[in-house]
Amino acid sequence: MLETPSNDIQRNLSDLRERIAKAAMAAGRQPVEVGLVAVSKTFPEEFVRQAMAAGQLCFGENRVQEAETKIPALRAELKLEWHLIGHLQSNKARRAAELFDVIHSVDSVKLALRLNEACRALGKVLPVLVQVDIGEEETKFGADQGEVRQIVAAASNLPGIRLNGLMTIPPFFDDPELTRPYFARLREIRDQLESESPGCLGNRHLSMGMTNDFEVAIQEGATLVRIGTAIFGARPHA
Ligand SMILES: *Cc1c(COP(=O)(O)O)cnc(C)c1O
Repeated sequence: MLETPSNDIQRNLSDLRERIAKAAMAAGRQPVEVGLVAVSKTFPEEFVRQAMAAGQLCFGENRVQEAETKIPALRAELKLEWHLIGHLQSNKARRAAELFDVIHSVDSVKLALRLNEACRALGKVLPVLVQVDIGEEETKFGADQGEVRQIVAAASNLPGIRLNGLMTIPPFFDDPELTRPYFARLREIRDQLESESPGCLGNRHLSMGMTNDFEVAIQEGATLVRIGTAIFGARPHA
């Protein structure tokens, strides 16, 4: 059920921030190096307000259509940062560029071109991450490594977008240890690209880690973790 008293979200957030800080320290990193994107998909605006009251300003949505109503409603009252973390079809690039502050799911040159066009028209520069498909599973979204290189090369000529790092969604495993090689691989790909063309990935973000595996992701260098369930509770099944 969607009725969660506000103190639950506040307590969940403070517990989560503690776990993030602990995982960072254990890995010899500073807690401030790990940003938290609170994934509010499927949850009502009221949950976002409650998280915001607990100091959370950065939120993630996975569908343009859902964001279409949620973001403008909240934008009017709150200054929040919105990240698109789900697959984006080229024909929705324009709307996504208007609604979102960061896009994690750029997985083709075509989409990068569309976003650039939209941002030029809007007079905005949009930070984006390239979503990398590490698993090479055909059903999954994300660019393979050849495509990642093409996107990086293309982006240097696209003033409307600013490449700012990489994102990945590994397959789900009950045992989070099994996700480690995927996270390590994303870090290696980033380091490789950065050594070939220094600066090509801006702030060099690694967006990886969800409720079940964020501690492993932080050990492997995550700078943005995308977490929904641990903050807002279980999502109703689609
Ligand atoms: C839903 C979603 C998340 C959050 O997942 P939780 O397991 O609820 O933390 C993170 N990333 C993406 C891309 C998602 O779609």
